[in-house]
Amino acid sequence: MRLLQARQRPVQALGQLLAPWLRRSAAQVFARAQIDWAGRRSCLALSFDCDFPEDAQAIPRVVELLGRHGLVASFACVGRWVEDYPDAHRAALEGGHELVNHSWSHPDLVNSARHFVSARTDLNPRPWRALSLVEQLAEVSRCQDAVRACLGYSMTTFRVPHFGHADVRPLYPHLTALGLTCSSSVLAARARRLGLPGWEGALMEIPITSCPRHPYASMDSWHALYAGGGRHRQDFAGLVTSQLRRDDVTRGLTSLYLDPKDWERLDFDGLFRCLARNADGRWVTTLRQLAAWWACRYPVGPAAGGR
Ligand SMILES: [Zn+2]
Repeated sequence: MRLLQARQRPVQALGQLLAPWLRRSAAQVFARAQIDWAGRRSCLALSFDCDFPEDAQAIPRVVELLGRHGLVASFACVGRWVEDYPDAHRAALEGGHELVNHSWSHPDLVNSARHFVSARTDLNPRPWRALSLVEQLAEVSRCQDAVRACLGYSMTTFRVPHFGHADVRPLYPHLTALGLTCSSSVLAARARRLGLPGWEGALMEIPITSCPRHPYASMDSWHALYAGGGRHRQDFAGLVTSQLRRDDVTRGLTSLYLDPKDWERLDFDGLFRCLARNADGRWVTTLRQLAAWWACRYPVGPAAGGR
């Protein structure tokens, strides 16, 4: 992991240099597309990655906070934690939220930097990219089965573990056979059309929004609190609020993800209050609903391109 982080440093430095240009380019992509977002000015897709058991255990608290502010969200869940903590995941469904397939064991589940130590010692340290395609698909399929067996729910969205470092493209053609119609596994700055959703064969990819100041990192709680010593410990809500204001002008989409276990460290209550503010013109939706709407509204994409 440290080696990986060291390799990422030049990329992040380059990203900071390119940040203003990437922000402008993304804004132009959305402004040109003039998406109507179900009759609203902009769109917010909020998601949570429940990687560790401690994330799963925090789901009911996060659901309560979301309900307080009238927000819906998508929870990317790990199959083995669904088996161990079914009630916590059921709370998300009962709150009107979506569950997303995040693999059965979340390979590469380590935290060598020791910012956080899980109470569980049986995490899967094997790198996702060291898995063969067959092994990766078995991880996806087993998660799909676990959630169906434990909760009677069929997931339609997939998020690859450690999305920033994994190439998800070889998986795309196989995911639809498992009942998945949408993926949210690519960072906007690395996506083909920046943050714009697009067809990958029969599958919809909804990119995760890049940090406006560090475009080769996502605007998530890991980046805010821990990466590089915590790049947005103090100003995260302000950073997100400016991003949403930009969306209102450019008719943009923000796909923001957070880790449930950080609900206190990042003050989710205050953050959710910011997300819910001025929400009249913003479509706050799950990835599942967004993908279904997009498939009807843009069967061949809003600009050139096809499925
Ligand atoms: Zn940043």
